[in-house]
Amino acid sequence: MVRAAVLPASGAPLRVAEIELPEPGPGQVRVRVAATGVCHSDLSLARGTLRQPVPAVLGHEAAGTVVSVGEGVTSASPGDRVVLCWAPPCGSCWFCTEGEPWLCEHSSDAAAAPYARWDGQDLFPGLSTAGFAEETVVSERAVLPVPDAVPLEQAALVGCAVMTGVGAVLNTAKVRAGQSVLVVGLGGVGLSVVQGARLAGAGQVIVVDRSPEKLALAQTMGATDALEAGGELSKQVRALTQRRGVDHGFDCVGLAETIRSTWGSTRRGGMTTIVGIGGKEQQVTFTALELFHFARTITGCVYGSTDPRTDIPKILGYAAEGRLDLGGLISSTIGLEGIDGAFADMEKGVGARAVVVPA
Ligand SMILES: [Zn+2]
Ligand SMILES: [Zn+2]
Repeated sequence: MVRAAVLPASGAPLRVAEIELPEPGPGQVRVRVAATGVCHSDLSLARGTLRQPVPAVLGHEAAGTVVSVGEGVTSASPGDRVVLCWAPPCGSCWFCTEGEPWLCEHSSDAAAAPYARWDGQDLFPGLSTAGFAEETVVSERAVLPVPDAVPLEQAALVGCAVMTGVGAVLNTAKVRAGQSVLVVGLGGVGLSVVQGARLAGAGQVIVVDRSPEKLALAQTMGATDALEAGGELSKQVRALTQRRGVDHGFDCVGLAETIRSTWGSTRRGGMTTIVGIGGKEQQVTFTALELFHFARTITGCVYGSTDPRTDIPKILGYAAEGRLDLGGLISSTIGLEGIDGAFADMEKGVGARAVVVPA
């Protein structure tokens, strides 16, 4: 039996309870969770904005220590410090063989199958990870080693927010040295985009958020100009960029309004990368004439267009070298009981990343 924060039904508060976690089967590993970040996707899964079978244990941005391994596991051993990856590519589907493993057809297979029992019912692992628990069982493919120089509490964030944000800059948008960047929305992902822009050697990095605290935090991570949300964004950005607009815009909110204003703040021929996950009710409209005239690119971005097998070690390496400030992303450390409070803060736009330390 291990303690976990269970989502009993869609939209219901979480309940901290004991769950029955089986020993790892063939190809699986059991991990003692050291820390799990609370991601906006957890809120969307809890509220039913993103589909989630229930009852479930959410939490997909986790790191910990391997406790035991199942039959045939060769890449991990008990005692290994690991970060968990919620979308491990299968390596053999069409997308994987075409070099787009972030779109793997099988990376979410484990999320659809029960992994444990609670209260006489099958329990589902949120995004295949179930990190809001003292321990979890995942596929061997979903764990990657963490260098000793990176604390597990910080490594956890690499599993989702940092991979997504840094990957959006380096892999999806391919920002070049000296280019100007706009980042709209400064949660864990947006702040990671800011840090990715610094890694890419971007020139101007303009950030937008409704929280003055987060704007100030972004400026310690590489932002050069801060704008409080609410003004007419494209005009404000133009005033900062010789009337042209930025080379790259990153929407880290996912609302029709922010996508539209980010797009409108890029220069002619500029690029907008949609990093935030919006709802299906969010309709974004463009006229045919403006699509032609501005010659801009707009692209979606899943998991930062990363290959976890190579990009997780690379990003952990940046952190070990001190080129990424992972500690600065953590705004609070909470127990399993504190997750609903972290969801409420997230809805209000308070804080960067809350991290759950389950034991
Ligand atoms: Zn996430
Ligand atoms: Zn695949």
